[in-house]
Amino acid sequence: MAQLLLNLSMAGQACLILGDPALAARKIKALSKTEACIEFFCEKHTDIVSQSECLKVLELYPDLDTKKYALIVVASEDLGLVKRAVADAKAHQIPINVYKKPELSTANFPYLIDRDPITIAVSSQGASAQMTRLIQTKINALIPVQFGRLANFFKAKQMLVNKKLTAQSDRRRFWESMADGAIAETIYQGKEDEAEKIFEKRLNEEGNAACGEVYLIGAGPGDPDLLTFKALRLLQSADVILYDRLVNPSILDYCKPTAERLYVGKAMSNHAVPQSEINQRLIDLAKEGKRVARLKGGDPFIFGRGGEEIEGLAEEGIPFQVIPGITAANGCSSYAGIPLTHRDYAQSVRFITGHLKEGELDLDWPSFVSQDQTLVFYMGLSNLDKICAKLIAHGRDKETPVALVEKGTMPAQRLLIATLETMPLKLKASSFEGPALTIVGDVVKLHEKLDWFHN
Ligand code: SAH
Repeated sequence: MAQLLLNLSMAGQACLILGDPALAARKIKALSKTEACIEFFCEKHTDIVSQSECLKVLELYPDLDTKKYALIVVASEDLGLVKRAVADAKAHQIPINVYKKPELSTANFPYLIDRDPITIAVSSQGASAQMTRLIQTKINALIPVQFGRLANFFKAKQMLVNKKLTAQSDRRRFWESMADGAIAETIYQGKEDEAEKIFEKRLNEEGNAACGEVYLIGAGPGDPDLLTFKALRLLQSADVILYDRLVNPSILDYCKPTAERLYVGKAMSNHAVPQSEINQRLIDLAKEGKRVARLKGGDPFIFGRGGEEIEGLAEEGIPFQVIPGITAANGCSSYAGIPLTHRDYAQSVRFITGHLKEGELDLDWPSFVSQDQTLVFYMGLSNLDKICAKLIAHGRDKETPVALVEKGTMPAQRLLIATLETMPLKLKASSFEGPALTIVGDVVKLHEKLDWFHN
């Protein structure tokens, strides 16, 4: 390791920017976040200069014998200027960063993930800006935007905790549980007052078993990349995961290795674990102090009985959060290149259950006939012939295009395209078995042009 990453105190320090400020924009931005005094001797007067606070624009190249700088940044095509700056920096032992010339730089700017007061810096010691940027983007996505608020909250509570918990091991365990639990989540939501109350209660309860919490998480339609950042973060913090049949098993790989995994999936006519039992299990596990992730396919509030599962929690006063997921309609339509609305074809969209109720498709058929409305049927595969017949009988054009999307968003995704009239026969001749979603409407015509997820 040729270079050391250090945090420098910049309050009141003078930094000199030479050359073209546009080329040094990232570095000026980082410096501007500190309390450094930035001085420019620039070839062009750009917005970056006029927007910076605590700046001084120099008319002449400064006299480095009399003025002491903590850092010089030179970004210029003018080799004469670069040479002069490098020589001066060396003579006066000032760290210098030279744009695109790591070999001339004695200081490099790492890429920053700024969650002030927490800063994460990624550096390749000048070897590859592309790689550091890539890593920065990845880490950036993992750290909640409000992480800094949590750090400030912890800082403010440090003395209190030290006083109450004298053993270092107790303190470590306490802080770890704080960083991952309800307090952190409350602060990320900007509710510091509420966090104060929970904190006080938790600290007072130290030594007693505290109540856990439940995260009702939408796992999306299949492709694990469609998980939200929040879903990922909470999954990684959960002690127990209860998951359904439609959850892609590879999503479970994101849970912490010690997490207990409980399958509570349901097939259509085969309720593996009755709903009431699932509801009760969530309550019992949370009461044991566990953080419970209830992972459901798609979005928990769309044909997912998510509402029923959290009703019991609300009644018991158990803290919970609902994390939306990409519902099958969104996932399948995107991956099939079928926009659900389109100015020329559809002004609205309906999500409908195609599941029989007491052997009947008890639906408001007359409201489905308008040609400029897209219909999306969930759970309708085994009744698709009935659905098509009903729509035609109620006046929807029999030539209306229909797309059946099976295993949407996954490598095994398949599509069957037909019309309301021809779909039942086409489906019979196919081997589609689900999970599958049906999209009805003129928007289906766009698939031919917009299909991108070829497999
Ligand atoms: N809560 C889920 C829906 C549960 S109902 C959501 O928001 O997506 C189950 C139905 O969703 C299935 O019968 C099927 O119609 C649809 N579905 C779920 N995942 C799917 C997938 N990957 N491809 C196609 N349809 C899917």
